[in-house]
Amino acid sequence: MCIVPVKDALFSISRFGKPKLVLGNQSFNIHKIIGPKSIWRCQKWRWGQCRTTITTLENCVIKMNKPHNHD
Ligand SMILES: [Zn+2]
Repeated sequence: MCIVPVKDALFSISRFGKPKLVLGNQSFNIHKIIGPKSIWRCQKWRWGQCRTTITTLENCVIKMNKPHNHD
């Protein structure tokens, strides 16, 4: 069910006190929480640079809408 092994996903708190998820060299900010699932957006989302969102369930990445358009 996981598309990314849990050991490769790092959950932490940003310096602004918001949940943050790091996958490899990409960071995601929490977007919303729907029941047991969390939706995350790429940190470059707000500049319109990237439209990657991922869904996690119990610290497991279960869905990614599209690949990043940046390194
Ligand atoms: Zn991205």
